[in-house]
Amino acid sequence: MAVPTVFLDGEEFASGRQTIEQLLEKAAGPTSKDDFAEKELFDVLVVGGGPAGGSAAIYAARKGINTGMVVETMGGQVMETLGIENMIGTPYTEGPKLMRQVEEHINEYKVDVMKGQRAKDIRRNDVIEVELENGAVLKTKTAILATGARWRNINVPGEKEFKNKGVAYCPHCDGPLFAGKEVAVIGGGNSGIEAAIDLAGMAKHVYVLEFLPELKADLVLQNRLNTLENVTVITNAATKEIAGSDHVEQLTYVDRETNGEFTLAVEGVFILIGLMPNTEWLKDRIVLNERNEIVVDKHGATNIEGVFAAGDCTDSVYKQIITSMGSGATAALGAFDHLIRS
Ligand SMILES: Cc1cc2nc3c(=O)[nH]c(=O)nc-3n(C[C@H](O)[C@H](O)[C@H](O)COP(=O)(O)OP(=O)(O)OC[C@H]3O[C@@H](n4cnc5c(N)ncnc54)[C@H](O)[C@@H]3O)c2cc1C
Repeated sequence: MAVPTVFLDGEEFASGRQTIEQLLEKAAGPTSKDDFAEKELFDVLVVGGGPAGGSAAIYAARKGINTGMVVETMGGQVMETLGIENMIGTPYTEGPKLMRQVEEHINEYKVDVMKGQRAKDIRRNDVIEVELENGAVLKTKTAILATGARWRNINVPGEKEFKNKGVAYCPHCDGPLFAGKEVAVIGGGNSGIEAAIDLAGMAKHVYVLEFLPELKADLVLQNRLNTLENVTVITNAATKEIAGSDHVEQLTYVDRETNGEFTLAVEGVFILIGLMPNTEWLKDRIVLNERNEIVVDKHGATNIEGVFAAGDCTDSVYKQIITSMGSGATAALGAFDHLIRS
């Protein structure tokens, strides 16, 4: 009940559309730390290969400076997006196509792209040091953090057990698999209500469960939702458990006002309770806000001199492809400005 998933020795290994190149890189695992011993000092080292990282690398490389990129999975969240209709100047494109073009654009310049590598620490000594999970330490004059975000888990019994067996996070990817079925959407914010509207076009019935007494989505979305006959909104609902046999069969929630327990017979549960920035590894180094987003100024600069950040991992108000690309450009120009002044 999900997009194609690859298993290695019984463990989930990769999910969603993957190229042979990506699977091989993943299977090979992080290269040995010795492979990085000869790397020279970078002028700009970008961490992340989504729209923000791609844009930052292109802007930096176009200044003719020594640019590197550390990327766990090239393309980022956009690889999960089927139709994109808000890339200005391109009325319609698809995620994998757009990010392939971004990668081709990066490859037009001299950028040292280190794929399949995860950064685990950053510190400033004489220069900035970025440590990778394989133990290698890359040195750079400036760094741009563009590690994006991932869906937040609800952490109730059944969520983990039924992932890809009815529990889903991406309505654009997995929605069509639930055509004609009863589904629940957890989360009454913009992403939850957008998902409910989307799913209502395919599913038999959509239940929206919001923890708070009222939906948090923009009024325009709520008004649209209210016109749909196959949607039921349940507020004050605390999800207790997702259960079933070999796939999801029901969801239990507690009414927070009455403490009554209710069960919905659903085959799909879409969890849309927000995004979590990929910033855990930065906690002791970089100033984060209460949502664990990197705090940046208008140049994209963080609290560490020479370290900039861009995209969904930052405290930017809007999280979109175009805003991420814009902030990637800002961070690269900020880093370049910092280089010529120091
Ligand atoms: C299903 C879905 C549909 C969407 N639809 C749209 C849409 O139609 N239009 C739109 O404008 N926006 C859309 N968005 C939002 C958009 O995708 C994001 O705003 C955008 O991708 C953010 O870009 P980013 O580069 O900041 O982060 P991401 O795209 O999250 O990329 C992060 C990158 O960092 C890498 N990374 C993470 N941690 C590390 C680490 N420690 N070391 C090395 N690399 C690391 C990842 O592998 C990845 O390459 C959608 C998002 C989703 C999930």
